[in-house]
Amino acid sequence: MRDVQDGKRFRQLQARYDDLVIVMHSDGAVLSKSTSKKLYLMFTQCLNVPLGLRLPIWFLHTIWAGSELPKDREPFLMELVRQIQLSQRENENFAPVCWSDCEGVTHESQILLHSYVADTPERSAVSGQLSHSAKQSCMYCLQIGVCINHRICFAFKPNAVLKTHDKLQEAASVWETMNTKQRQIALKEHLTFGMKRPTVLSQIEGFDLVEGFVLDIMHQFDEGVTKYLLGQLCEQDSVLRLPKTKIQQINEQWMSVVIPGHHNRPPRDILEYKRMKAHELRFFMQHAAPFVLRNILPENVYKVFCHASRVIWLCTKESITTTDINELRTQCHDFLKSFESLLWNLRDEIFCPLDAAYSIRG
Ligand SMILES: [Zn+2]
Repeated sequence: MRDVQDGKRFRQLQARYDDLVIVMHSDGAVLSKSTSKKLYLMFTQCLNVPLGLRLPIWFLHTIWAGSELPKDREPFLMELVRQIQLSQRENENFAPVCWSDCEGVTHESQILLHSYVADTPERSAVSGQLSHSAKQSCMYCLQIGVCINHRICFAFKPNAVLKTHDKLQEAASVWETMNTKQRQIALKEHLTFGMKRPTVLSQIEGFDLVEGFVLDIMHQFDEGVTKYLLGQLCEQDSVLRLPKTKIQQINEQWMSVVIPGHHNRPPRDILEYKRMKAHELRFFMQHAAPFVLRNILPENVYKVFCHASRVIWLCTKESITTTDINELRTQCHDFLKSFESLLWNLRDEIFCPLDAAYSIRG
């Protein structure tokens, strides 16, 4: 959601018309299914070109291969940071990107980093923030979770205090003055604003350590919220504990769903939800849930699924308007409220990823 908001990040960057504004992307990959060798890849995309040209072109600038992903990402980021710093006008060794336009005019451009696209695990590896399973796992707020039944759980607080770039910078400068022992204590007592260690990305002028990272719908919603809610429908030890006949009824409806253009393979049995790929989970929640669960679930449970379905529908539209964002805010709020009142004893980590809707500012 945050990468498509309203051009706020662009305004923050105060770019000149010929400055190059880039997006970074990094992730692990496998070489082929027959080997366990891992690849680590980094790409850059230039935002100054029209969307049609931008989408198919990703510049691959780093490839690393090994039996494991690199434990420390900082060495990979250092060269990137150095080059961006050199290109910036206030640098005493100013080394801009020089290029000529179609009229032969030469330009000297600085490079500005707009945002960093990384999935949830990769994001915590590059951003210096604690991982998604930590008590301060939320990328946008400072709420501290509690551990219940081996899960980190968050109460629903619509007005949780938000993280800011300045707070993280402040935490990083305090970190530099501490010894190892003090750092361990600060982490244990949650005094670092969710920071695990300072990141080299903080040295890039204009890059916002909070707003610069985008949401990861696949891990947080599809494999988080949707999978969890499917577990509630299917498992006998869940809070809902649906009778087997009802699960069967839901499954029959589910197997009957066909939407033109989406029918690549027959849907998997609902009881096999743990093996579903993210796109199958997305399809269930986005298109099927309000239909297959209607008149089967009690009204208060059905409502939870309807709100979740509307949320994912609105988040993943190709073009999102201000009206959509306002509705999204209301839907997230209603989803969380109905979820909490239903599953009050199971405060879950699914609360936090969603409060991103509250953090849309500007
Ligand atoms: Zn949060």
